[in-house]
Amino acid sequence: MAQHRVQCADIQNDLIFLSHNRKPVKRMSSLMELKEVFQNADAVCFDVDSTVIKEEGIDELAKFCGVGDAVAEMTRRAMGGTVTFKAALTARLGLIRPSYEQVQKLISEHPPQLTPGIRELVNRLHQRGVQVFLISGGFQSIVEHVALQLNIPTANVFANRLKFYFNGEYAGFDETQPTAESGGKGQVISYLKEQFQFKKVVMIGDGATDMEACPPADCFIGFGGNVVRKQVKEKAKWYITHFDELLKELEER
Ligand SMILES: [Mg+2]
Repeated sequence: MAQHRVQCADIQNDLIFLSHNRKPVKRMSSLMELKEVFQNADAVCFDVDSTVIKEEGIDELAKFCGVGDAVAEMTRRAMGGTVTFKAALTARLGLIRPSYEQVQKLISEHPPQLTPGIRELVNRLHQRGVQVFLISGGFQSIVEHVALQLNIPTANVFANRLKFYFNGEYAGFDETQPTAESGGKGQVISYLKEQFQFKKVVMIGDGATDMEACPPADCFIGFGGNVVRKQVKEKAKWYITHFDELLKELEER
């Protein structure tokens, strides 16, 4: 009798499998797979600008240094062209030329604004023993300030490093950091997987460079809570507009 029941269950599973092969259901199935990866992740990596914080760090720095409009124009032009990430960063920083003092003043007078729900989500992930990383094309000192507010160790921050002369004047940036390159976020994730033997790594972000980090990430979650990037919204299999949606996924299990 018991054997008969098992056989019935198998048949039912087969039927479910068949219905999953129909197109609309298959899309659902792959979303379910992504949710499972998220629920069982060893590590969750967040982009910072327009994801963990509401604004773009480099734009805020430019505004603070009085060249906001010129840098915004440069960003617009770079986005439409074939300029590499490093070339665009070099050009924009060359215009801003932030001093050590200006960066410190920006952090104290205009600290980065956390996106609603991020604190609760990071706390929940930490409670579950999940490692949380910040991977950013922005600047280490600003991202470390964000990490501090979220109880993320500074060793879990991967970002670009500004360089200063002894008198505090701008001296360029560390061009050897992977985050200074196009495709750099993926490089960081590969490094983390190798270094810590992570099996399931999730990348969350608003931009195309975040989406491109999957693979090597095992799951990408597009975030449109601050700004919606059309390409990401259209291509991401899992797209959210509030971090509460992810908190809910963790509470259901
Ligand atoms: Mg971003």
